Amino acid sequence: MNTRIVRAACPHDCPDTCAMLVTVRDGKATDVRGDPAHPNTAGVLCTKVSRYVERAYHPDRLLYPMKRIGSKGEGKFERISWEEALSTIAARLQAIAKHDARAILPYSYAGTMGAVQGESMAMRFFNRLGASRLDRTICATAGGTGYKYTIGAKMGTDTEQYENAKVILIWGGNPIASNLHFWIKAQEAKRRGATLVAIDPYRSLTAEKCQHHIALLPGTDAALALGLMHILVRDNLLDHDYIARHTLGFDQLRERVATWTPQRTADTCGVPVEQVEMLAKLYGETAMRGEPSAIRLSYGVQRVRGGGMAARNIACLPALVGSWRHPSGGVLLSSGESYPKQTARMERPDLMPSNPSQPPRTINMSTIGDDLLRPASTEFGPKLEAVIVYNSNPVAVAPESAKVARGFAREDLFTVVLEHFQTDTVDYADIVLPATTQLEHTDVHASYGHQYIIANNAAIDPIGEARPNTEIFRLLAQRMGFTEDCFRDTDDELAAQAFDANHPHARRYDWSRVKADGWMKLDMPAAPFAHGGFPTPSGKCEFYSEQMLQAGLDPLPSYTPPYESVASAPELAKDYPLAMISPPQRNFLNTTFVNVQSLRATEGEPHLDIHPDDAVTRGIADGDMVRVFNQRGEMLAKARVSDAPRKGLVVALSIWWKKLASDGRNANELTSQRLTDMGRAPTFYDVLVQVEKARPS
Ligand code: SF4
Repeated sequence: MNTRIVRAACPHDCPDTCAMLVTVRDGKATDVRGDPAHPNTAGVLCTKVSRYVERAYHPDRLLYPMKRIGSKGEGKFERISWEEALSTIAARLQAIAKHDARAILPYSYAGTMGAVQGESMAMRFFNRLGASRLDRTICATAGGTGYKYTIGAKMGTDTEQYENAKVILIWGGNPIASNLHFWIKAQEAKRRGATLVAIDPYRSLTAEKCQHHIALLPGTDAALALGLMHILVRDNLLDHDYIARHTLGFDQLRERVATWTPQRTADTCGVPVEQVEMLAKLYGETAMRGEPSAIRLSYGVQRVRGGGMAARNIACLPALVGSWRHPSGGVLLSSGESYPKQTARMERPDLMPSNPSQPPRTINMSTIGDDLLRPASTEFGPKLEAVIVYNSNPVAVAPESAKVARGFAREDLFTVVLEHFQTDTVDYADIVLPATTQLEHTDVHASYGHQYIIANNAAIDPIGEARPNTEIFRLLAQRMGFTEDCFRDTDDELAAQAFDANHPHARRYDWSRVKADGWMKLDMPAAPFAHGGFPTPSGKCEFYSEQMLQAGLDPLPSYTPPYESVASAPELAKDYPLAMISPPQRNFLNTTFVNVQSLRATEGEPHLDIHPDDAVTRGIADGDMVRVFNQRGEMLAKARVSDAPRKGLVVALSIWWKKLASDGRNANELTSQRLTDMGRAPTFYDVLVQVEKARPS
């Protein structure tokens, strides 16, 4: 028996980007495990990806190209050859491009986080074609924008350092489900005497294990940060030397937070005033003792109207107390911009044709529901005539999904989907192309939770007739007559171009070495802002931001209430009085893994967590089927009555495939396409609903 171990990377949209070891016996992958030598992975994979072999060899894998033979959404297809698939797609795209290539839209996100199978060859193809550009906002742009206004780049505390923190605020996330390796460090910190505080409207698995839980109202995190700053100033829990040397706008900030008294903060956030006082003192006094107070900020806080400002406000806290001085202090939202990515080299925006009568157009992926239904107009440009979907499942994951499905159901829309499985989106495709999984192709990965570059070597041959995304776009480029050399780059050549080896963070980057070794750590200082040097325009942590003023935003930390809450929309709340959030299920990752039987069996069916007080007034008992509805749509779920959600909040852990739910719907029927204060991002957790016991069908 021929057995070998292949070095690989987890490709999923998770900050941990694990280094994996794949066991291959006689050409078949038999086991996937975490690399014990990798300091962040430390031999541990989450439950989901430990089942990666089950997923790769799943009997439902798409094995060959197909064309639609039923109506859109019905999911009926017949097998065709690659030759027929490619020539059909090329002919249709050429015909559209003849009048206006902007009527073609790529739709993709983080189905793989790889630099090669993500947006390299695909974007070269769409840039050369002159297709509409996609504004990739669906997950992180609100928080990323706000965070960057304050500290300059998406970087911060090294995850490996959290184990030495004395206080950790776990803000807006449930790392047990979605940032496991940070949670392992946080637990180690707790064993060493640290205090962990979860700030989350929902008592998640993580919140249950922290010493304190601040269950604030959804969308009020920015207010809580303002209140904390008020107390830090009031009680002089400040590092005056750090503030003087390394921050901008402290006097204006002090004035701004003066009105954010603990009582106002408590009233806005719906928490006891004592909790606000306790939290500020714990955070500030720890720092004043010269011990590291750290924050792990997650993307949950920014899926609301004021989400960008929330991330900005929270990012101000470490500079006030000087916790950046410690490797284990500071804050981390994302480490993504620690990497010197060569995005332009990979995606080649210079290939865009220049046509003054057809200026480039950008479509926001978060408003795809409306945009698929929009007619041509001077403001919008040409009606969308073709969508090529890869690394995404918009019919299930985009907000207000009834509209998304209506858009994809348009008979005059040509839809191509590259996928592993017949997802909700595939059901609407005209042509389906089978894509390889991470075990079957080459890639290289940055992370947004640690500081390593991780290699992914192909462990097995492609299953069936599946092809890597890169190969599919290379072949399409040939069919379209694109002759530029860049369309001949191999996957290894693309991986070699992914990072700038002249940049101080990645001077040792040599793809052939990383490929063999499996990973390399970036060269970063342990405490990146101990001596200031923030990558902002002023080089300081900007409490006051001139850039924000230029962008028409409040240049100082502030608070914008949600679009939909009892306090901010009382008329709407008469009909829909419960706030709803839909954070990730532990066993799913967005919609990935929902069709893996062993994982879905653990989750059972779509649930709605509801507080006992809210259940009893509606005559709902634990285990009842309930109808959750608002002005946009409805879904069915099984009620789980518990005090894990605060009163007035319901929680629909997500994201289910619609077709695997009993009513063919999921939580995105209820979410809206309204956008955040900055970053043009969706407001998935800014939703009011009503719940009633479902009538038996
Ligand atoms: S999903 Fe996250 S925790 Fe799980 S294996 Fe992948 S990177 Fe690691």
